[in-house]
Amino acid sequence: THDIHIIGGGLAGSEAAWQLAEAGVKVRLSEMRGSGEGTAAHQTDGLAELVCSNSFRSDDAESNAVGLLHQEMRTLGSLIMRQADLHRVPAGSALAVDRDNFSASVTQAIADHPNITLVRERVDALPDGPAIIATGPLTAPALAEGIGAATGKEALAFFDALAPIVHRDSIDMDIAWFASRWDKGETKDYINCPMTKDEYLAFHTGLVEGEKTPFKDWEKDTPYFDGCMPIEVMAERGLDTLRFGPMKPVGLDDPKTGRWPHAVVQLRQDNAQGSLWNIVGFQTKLKHAEQVRLFRTIPGLQNAEFARLGGLHRNTFIRSPDLLDETLRLKSRPNIRFAGQITGCEGYIESASIGLMAGKFAAAELKGETLAPLPYATALGALLAHITGAAESETYQPMNVNFGLFPPIPGRTKKTDRKRMYTDRGRTALAEWLNSPRAPEPADTSPEP
Ligand code: FAD
Repeated sequence: THDIHIIGGGLAGSEAAWQLAEAGVKVRLSEMRGSGEGTAAHQTDGLAELVCSNSFRSDDAESNAVGLLHQEMRTLGSLIMRQADLHRVPAGSALAVDRDNFSASVTQAIADHPNITLVRERVDALPDGPAIIATGPLTAPALAEGIGAATGKEALAFFDALAPIVHRDSIDMDIAWFASRWDKGETKDYINCPMTKDEYLAFHTGLVEGEKTPFKDWEKDTPYFDGCMPIEVMAERGLDTLRFGPMKPVGLDDPKTGRWPHAVVQLRQDNAQGSLWNIVGFQTKLKHAEQVRLFRTIPGLQNAEFARLGGLHRNTFIRSPDLLDETLRLKSRPNIRFAGQITGCEGYIESASIGLMAGKFAAAELKGETLAPLPYATALGALLAHITGAAESETYQPMNVNFGLFPPIPGRTKKTDRKRMYTDRGRTALAEWLNSPRAPEPADTSPEP
């Protein structure tokens, strides 16, 4: 017998199971690997297997958002962080781990916990009772279908199409300008970067000749959905294809010349606070270093700082900002929570952190308590807010944690000082939450008898 069923023993499911078990809740954790099933990326039967790199990225909690996330997770008793620290290998200021020992000791800790029953089985339908779905980017097809039925098919994606995202304060607005196409002055929804013919031709060559990351074998049948074809594939179709597509200049008067440029790169606001802007239509398989080099040749983006680079991968994720409430419950079936990459975060540690929060929220609920969402000023809270509401739901795509997701720091400050201000403010907010983590009782609005 169990109080809650967790499906998927990856980074998120293992962390969620640990949080629940430590809170005294009985957990059934179902992991299909080890039962004769596998995914296209996992190589072992170990829980929390790292499918690619062995790095959890920067461990600098003073000036890096992911470093702050590490620190917050340690403070909240994360199993994934404890095991990562135990199996650390030298990697400068990054936290990298011995992947086999890391996964083996997570598996051991879970298997040995008296409140966890680890079952090697594939689950094909959403459970009726309390559950956390943490089946990751490679969720097995039958369950994915069940999730699609519960969320609505169009709210479940099987591929991501990542356009690069730029920090707003790194865009040169002496060159770029705000306008919508055929702008009559009322709506100025886009940031526009103008290109001359020579700049466009050089850029086109860069796209066609730039080094690309090949699709993995199991990704080869990637269908190019309407509207998410890689930009370089479009470029290969003809010299002017982009000028009739995402780089169309018509209706965009450059205020400096009063004329339409030869081509225009448009950026659209990506988060509610307007600190992050995505380059419209620029999903790409170009290598990351190549993207930084090439996209900085776009006038106005010469100093661009990227919150995320472009990509296109097989990935299963739901449109969380529409579907999940602020404690990660499926609004239409609140006994089910989602955690990990399937919620639309990106990265090992981000996935584990959503597992940690889902586990803590579920544990509180099962014990008849209420836990307030983590404060927005923390790394955990910023990621949670992004997933459960702050992001644009129509264009929702997976995202790593970064300072652009945090509430902005008002005023103008030096970049290095600002990073420090984000992390100091985050630590204060977490300390306050730890002092009173209970959500306030909802006001009683029932009419007087
Ligand atoms: P997972 O760790 O994938 O865990 C999900 C688990 O659910 C799996 O163990 C799976 O076997 C199981 N499962 C699925 N369906 C079922 C079912 N129906 N029943 C029972 N069990 C089921 N992130 C990085 O930070 N760095 C990287 O280098 C990196 N490389 C990646 C490479 C690839 C090819 C992919 C696909 C992703 C990569 N990621 C990387 C992104 C992501 O952070 C990881 O995929 C991360 O493991 C996600 O954590 P998770 O817990 O959500 O999912």
